[in-house]
Amino acid sequence: MDPLHARYPFLAAARESVREADIGLVAVVAGDERHPAVERGVERVRRALVDGTVRSDPDDERRWATRAELLSYPVARVLVSLVDAPGAVEKYASAEADTAYERFTDDFENPDDGLKSTADTAVSLRALLAEFDLSGAVRETVSGDGYRIAVGRYLALSSNLDGERWTLATRQLADGTVKVSETELRELLREAVRQRVAAGLPTDVPDEIRAGLTDEVAELQETFSEIDVSQDIDVLAPDCFPPCVASLVERAQDGENLDDHAEFALVAFLTSANADTDELLALCGVDSDTRATALRYRANRVGDESGAQYAPPSCETMAAYDECPVADEEDPTTDGRCETVSHPLSYYEDALDAAESAGD
Ligand code: SF4
Repeated sequence: MDPLHARYPFLAAARESVREADIGLVAVVAGDERHPAVERGVERVRRALVDGTVRSDPDDERRWATRAELLSYPVARVLVSLVDAPGAVEKYASAEADTAYERFTDDFENPDDGLKSTADTAVSLRALLAEFDLSGAVRETVSGDGYRIAVGRYLALSSNLDGERWTLATRQLADGTVKVSETELRELLREAVRQRVAAGLPTDVPDEIRAGLTDEVAELQETFSEIDVSQDIDVLAPDCFPPCVASLVERAQDGENLDDHAEFALVAFLTSANADTDELLALCGVDSDTRATALRYRANRVGDESGAQYAPPSCETMAAYDECPVADEEDPTTDGRCETVSHPLSYYEDALDAAESAGD
């Protein structure tokens, strides 16, 4: 199996290689021992719905074989169709698209860093455009300062993207094409991935596959019930933030480029704490257009249209990511309230209650 397909399992060629290998999902889910593809499929969905990425857990020492990684994608599609969590399909498709975006951006910028393994698994812009039938619809501008994309394809890919900058009125339109920057073309490709992943979900799951995944679905449901986020928080009060969030805010304000899980934790917390996108950008001291664009996208994806939003990570997950100052082994922060909670949002709710009582 091709490692490229394991990195980009939504590619038509990846689906074909699974079909050619003639590995039925029934066989994968039915064994007495849990198949690695099922294990990874569970992780894929859990990470998508909890952390906004489908990358494997950075603290997990296991390395997934190409076969397990590739097969985990159809398993994850089945699982996300079976779990009962608000906005599960949308969050899952967005997390697959976000992860693909990170990977293909890296591939475009470092197509061959001298490692044969990298060259074998990298995708090119040309290949990705062909994958989404965009080769004839996208061309580089003569001056090389961006691309022009056929207006029909532009509209199909941008209609779901937030922000005035995507409206046609703000675009240079000429000869039936719309000008986009290189970054914007990548964002449109991310949307193409999201649309493809979301297509056909939730899927009808045959009874024998459903029966084989009963434990896995229950495991996922349990994870989500543990992170049931209060929908009652309607006050944004930075003074009441827990130490982990205060530290992330401070680092963002200092201009640090937070890595993915830290940025996700911060944005998910602030969105849950009722910050709108402008408040979020102000709190994080964002002053560059590129950062603002990335954070806006993240914020819009974290809080979805239905109000069903990503829960920020629990204290346990924050500690696993080395983002909990209280759990810092070398220089731990002491905070009495942290000892009584298992989730940063619980901390925030308690602190808000205490502040309100003190003000009575
Ligand atoms: S214990 Fe929880 S709330 Fe407190 S700093 Fe750590 S992650 Fe944040």
